[in-house]
Amino acid sequence: MTIEERIPVAVLGATGSVGQRFVSLLLRHPWFRLAEVTASERSAGRRYGEAAHWLQSEPLPDEVAALEVRPTDPTDVHLDSRLVFSALDSSAAERVEAAYAKAGHFVVSNAKTHRMDPDVPLLVPEVNSAHLGLLEHQSAHAPGALLTNPNCSTIGLVLTLAPLDAAFGIEQVHVVTMQAVSGAGLHGVPSMQMIDNLVPHIGGEEDKLETETQKILGVLRGDRIDPAAIRVSAQCTRVAVVDGHTLCVSVKLRESPGLDEVREALQGFRSAPQELGLPSAPDRPVHVLDQADRPQPRLDRDIDQGMAATVGRLRHCPLFDCKYVALSHNTLRGAAGGSILVAEQALAEGRIPGLEI
Ligand code: NAP
Repeated sequence: MTIEERIPVAVLGATGSVGQRFVSLLLRHPWFRLAEVTASERSAGRRYGEAAHWLQSEPLPDEVAALEVRPTDPTDVHLDSRLVFSALDSSAAERVEAAYAKAGHFVVSNAKTHRMDPDVPLLVPEVNSAHLGLLEHQSAHAPGALLTNPNCSTIGLVLTLAPLDAAFGIEQVHVVTMQAVSGAGLHGVPSMQMIDNLVPHIGGEEDKLETETQKILGVLRGDRIDPAAIRVSAQCTRVAVVDGHTLCVSVKLRESPGLDEVREALQGFRSAPQELGLPSAPDRPVHVLDQADRPQPRLDRDIDQGMAATVGRLRHCPLFDCKYVALSHNTLRGAAGGSILVAEQALAEGRIPGLEI
């Protein structure tokens, strides 16, 4: 596909931490072409290269730096792109995302705003692509549609829970997170609070891990998702790591497999995105590492282009059945990369009317 033949897409909130990841990933995407970017009133009307405090390791190409940042409010702007990725702050998302869908756009959002709406899929394509079926019942957002990506820690968690649930059934999960500062946005946590420190509170995060996990591992029944009957207890902390959320997970299973069987279930996990060969799908959604001191954010967050979860320190748990440490990249798999994979899955299934590959 030449670049002109690729599907034009817009990114809402393109100047932020997640927005910049979208821009970077879309630069080399084989199906999509970054056509439009929006941000707040502070940035609107400026060139992207001036408005965005570019923090990605690759240089910003001139043609992207020259894009005009558009306003985000649909009453102030008309976007031509049918497919819209949202990396908006949740208050802005609340104001505009449904309006874009109503105007006919297919919106894939990273914000928490609509994640738990009963008619909105909360997708991790390897885990619950069947939930795309909810779109058939999403008349409230017609003629467009609204899909969401989970919280950045939830994604790493469910990628490791899904194969265990399928193989052995999960009853309870206890998870403690150590989350990177990029998860708090570009202007998130002040350095005076983070250096030489750990902050044992991230507003709203524990509730998201507990409820989103149940929705994602739930079952689609007609026009609703029956949440999984899994009890999840989460504690979340912010640590002085730039990218990559680490999770200490303990799992109580219905069956009593040996650790070799648990390892095999995690390592052998493959799903729809791998079978379809989607461009952003990792070769393996979960990589199991055997070294005693892995995974580590700096060493392991970029495995499989930052789209896989890594698991290490798999062992018996004296309280539950097994425990392990999981790691996933929060702005790649946990945000921009995850959303792009959601759009690829929807497109491959023919669920975006008017667009095909
Ligand atoms: P961020 O760095 O603070 O970026 C926020 C973006 O939204 C910026 O482009 C900003 O534009 C724009 N914006 C803010 N207020 C606006 C308004 N009133 N109207 C229009 N645009 C507005 O945040 P982020 O970390 O990228 O997160 C973006 C979203 O993704 C959030 O909902 C977050 O919860 C979610 N998320 C983040 C992560 C992560 O790891 N960071 C992971 C998963 C999900 P200006 O630059 O012009 O201010």
